[in-house]
Amino acid sequence: MFVVMRQGATEAEVLGVKSRILAEGLTPYEHAGANGTVLAVVGELAKRREALIAQFGVLPGVERVTPIQRPFKLTSREFHPEDTVIRVLDAVIGDGGLAVMAGPCSVESREQLMVTADAVAAAGATILRGGAFKPRTSPYAFQGLGIEALRYLSEARDRTGLPTITEVMEPNQVDIVAEYADILQIGTRNMQNYSLLNAVGRVARPVMLKRGFGATVEEFLMAAEYIVAAGNPNVILCERGIRTFETYTRNTMDLAAVPVLHMLTHLPVVVDPSHATGKRWLVRPLALGGVAVGADGVMVEVHPDPDSALSDSEQQLDLAAFAALMRDLLPVHEHVRHLHDDIAAGASGVAAPGNGDGLSRH
Ligand code: PEP
Ligand code: MN
Repeated sequence: MFVVMRQGATEAEVLGVKSRILAEGLTPYEHAGANGTVLAVVGELAKRREALIAQFGVLPGVERVTPIQRPFKLTSREFHPEDTVIRVLDAVIGDGGLAVMAGPCSVESREQLMVTADAVAAAGATILRGGAFKPRTSPYAFQGLGIEALRYLSEARDRTGLPTITEVMEPNQVDIVAEYADILQIGTRNMQNYSLLNAVGRVARPVMLKRGFGATVEEFLMAAEYIVAAGNPNVILCERGIRTFETYTRNTMDLAAVPVLHMLTHLPVVVDPSHATGKRWLVRPLALGGVAVGADGVMVEVHPDPDSALSDSEQQLDLAAFAALMRDLLPVHEHVRHLHDDIAAGASGVAAPGNGDGLSRH
């Protein structure tokens, strides 16, 4: 449930409500937004819900208590109506601009990364990607250069000014990856690795959470909820394709998830057409499609010589193809950026749903 404080409620009144919540064995999370303060009450409410609503509703400074029954709370629009905007060095994600994360699937050598970093920076990318610890389907496939790759990534950041993003696969890698990289990535295979989600929830680095390839939107948001509840509010969601019966593409890019997520959550949403399609020629149309449906950014794999890549060679763009994509992407973004402003408000002419939206109630 959310306790909505009156506009102008005093700090003492907010504190009073928080201590009542704590006294009930529940945890209050505060969001001081443009329209006043909201406290999310999380914990096991069970059969006490009605009694607690009545109890909190009469406390000084409280305007109303809303029994939101969606399982995700801190990541929801109801709790935090304004978009979350994440700033890392000069890159901004979620402010209406377009974040472009580009770079190789795997960092393979210093030379390969520097050449790619220079080219994607020149083409207008805003964030440099590169895998250091690689989650490979086969234990015999290239597993990444590990810490050596992290050092190259930070050298490339110093050289181009682009913040870096790289995957962290285990809780015990979080500190070292956070030392070298600017944004931590949780891969699709780890979306529900709760000890990893808790670990990245405790570091002062933004986290990009990739959607599990078998995860519903609700499960995706519950995974993000772990990170936010653990103390890290800077979470970026990434739609990277889900597994369906279709096999022509590597995955099926769920474009509808972008506006759905924008309606349900304040967190920024990025699309990854490279892993979604697995095919080089499909990256461009799906990147354009992702931007057209309102994504806050795209992640694209780029390699100086894709055919020789040690991982995902089928889907990486070469440097020229990436530059060409950027030239097409930016005008599409410019055209659509204001068309999506009203989704969150449910004022797009087709009202955003209330009940009957396919989400569970707990
Ligand atoms: C990646 O981005 O390097 C990656 C492995 O992606 P995913 O987790 O979406 O498969
Ligand atoms: Mn890859």
